[in-house]
Amino acid sequence: MYSHRDREGGPLDRKRISDVLDKHLEKSPSSTSRGLNSKDKERSSVPSTSTGKSQLDHRSASLSKAKYSDEESETDCEESDVSGSDGDDTSWISWFCNLRGNEFFCEVDDEYIQDDFNLCGLTSQVPYYDYALDLILDVESSHGDMFTEEQNELVESAAEMLYGLIHVRYILTSKGMSAMLEKYKSYDFGRCPRVYCCGQPCLPVGRSDIPRSSTVKIYCPKCEDIYYPRSKYQGNMDGAYFGTTFPHLFLMTYGHLKPQKPTQNYTPRVFGFKIHKP
Ligand SMILES: [Zn+2]
Repeated sequence: MYSHRDREGGPLDRKRISDVLDKHLEKSPSSTSRGLNSKDKERSSVPSTSTGKSQLDHRSASLSKAKYSDEESETDCEESDVSGSDGDDTSWISWFCNLRGNEFFCEVDDEYIQDDFNLCGLTSQVPYYDYALDLILDVESSHGDMFTEEQNELVESAAEMLYGLIHVRYILTSKGMSAMLEKYKSYDFGRCPRVYCCGQPCLPVGRSDIPRSSTVKIYCPKCEDIYYPRSKYQGNMDGAYFGTTFPHLFLMTYGHLKPQKPTQNYTPRVFGFKIHKP
């Protein structure tokens, strides 16, 4: 459904958005920890999540029409790639979760997001919070016209972050966990690359609960180790949008899914002889 073309032109835009957001967060006294290490920092130069241009173009509530207007010719050929791009019946959430690289995200219930209690504390973590929330919930906003292009980019970027921070909470609820169970059953999070794990399906995990500190990893319940996701798009995702708790609480909740420990271990051999370990 989404071809590579969906993201063409993304890297530069993306980098710009990230830089702008970085600047903003630096200035903001309420900013959460920034401090991506240099490796993770590279993620901003790789196409990430917010570049579904053609869909954005067709979303009447879209905040950034002007931004993409100079790419119209390119949009024409993209149209066929995106199903339902003509109508505005796709919610922001399902559009967002269907972007390449966002496969690990489940769709958070509108109801959950509309309950202020569930969003407690996020106001101070996300810039342009109210506008970002409106965008996520597809609330028509007139503010879009007032914003500069840069501000619109910030709002889009903030919406991604806000969604991630809501997502990490949602997947610890029973509804969220069962949404993730469906994804686990269809191997959406990939399989363990370790040979003796025999294709064990994995679960997403963060190494930190602080946003922008490390990218998402996958956890194998069999060998109980973590790995880089196979897709570089998925590998650019912030680990804090999944958190350090999720896979373990998930396996405690669905105990029957916890696999047996692997019985085999790889033994290095030279001409058939085990290597002597001093
Ligand atoms: Zn494994």
